[in-house]
Amino acid sequence: MNICRLLLLAGALAGATALAHAQTKIHWYGHAAIKIETPTGGVILVDPWLGAPTNPEKDSVAKLGRVDYILLTHGHWDHIKDAVEIGKKTGAILVAPYGLQFNMKSVHGYPEKQATLATGGNVGGTFNLDKAGAKVTMVNAVHGSEFTPPMVKAEEGKPSTISAGNPVGYVIQVDNGPTLYHTGDTDVFTDMQLIGRFFKVDVMFAAIGGHFTMDPERAAQAVEWVNPKAVVPIHWGTYPILSGNPARLRAALEPRRMSDRVAEMKPGETRGF
Ligand SMILES: [Zn+2]
Repeated sequence: MNICRLLLLAGALAGATALAHAQTKIHWYGHAAIKIETPTGGVILVDPWLGAPTNPEKDSVAKLGRVDYILLTHGHWDHIKDAVEIGKKTGAILVAPYGLQFNMKSVHGYPEKQATLATGGNVGGTFNLDKAGAKVTMVNAVHGSEFTPPMVKAEEGKPSTISAGNPVGYVIQVDNGPTLYHTGDTDVFTDMQLIGRFFKVDVMFAAIGGHFTMDPERAAQAVEWVNPKAVVPIHWGTYPILSGNPARLRAALEPRRMSDRVAEMKPGETRGF
């Protein structure tokens, strides 16, 4: 095969890949909440707190149509806030670490039948998300996972937090689409190198706000290890305390020649990958 034909073939392959990936749409509600629409029409929500002050759309929950799965990374209220309401409204199946899934039912009233062991597991486990045409792997995250006020009422003499399993991140492999990695709330950790070894990540949704998670400078090391084609910064700017921003991430990725991988999204924006 001569070089021209090789180049044409490479171009066609790249085009076909781009086309397949364009069928997967990602909507960012601000903070850590994303909606994934797969090529088969399936809908997956991750960490659905749709009322973040940066979300320009104030009726996002009411506007939701089909939702097949809700994935929760940990128990903090800024990640689980709208999960029960959406679960009841849409019949969405709950994917969560074992302890969190149980407590979502017993403490917060998530519908029992939509939260079974089929989709409750722990780090290292992979589940099929048949209704959405995808599969998901729970991966490590370095964080806490308690139910905290305002989701839990403090009672005198009792602890005001309730343990809710291990915090996790998710690698979501969309059939005929991209592989997505949502870090959850976490610092960078050296085992992120394993994620880059086991998966070819197309889009990484990386917490960069600092204070409760890695900041942009630490997230740059995470990006180097995971080696995604694109990184969407999340969990920043919701409140002034989450002061990390995409410009700092780009600057920290510059010496690694990876700054062009930052795919900055605005809250309320939808993009195809
Ligand atoms: Zn958080």
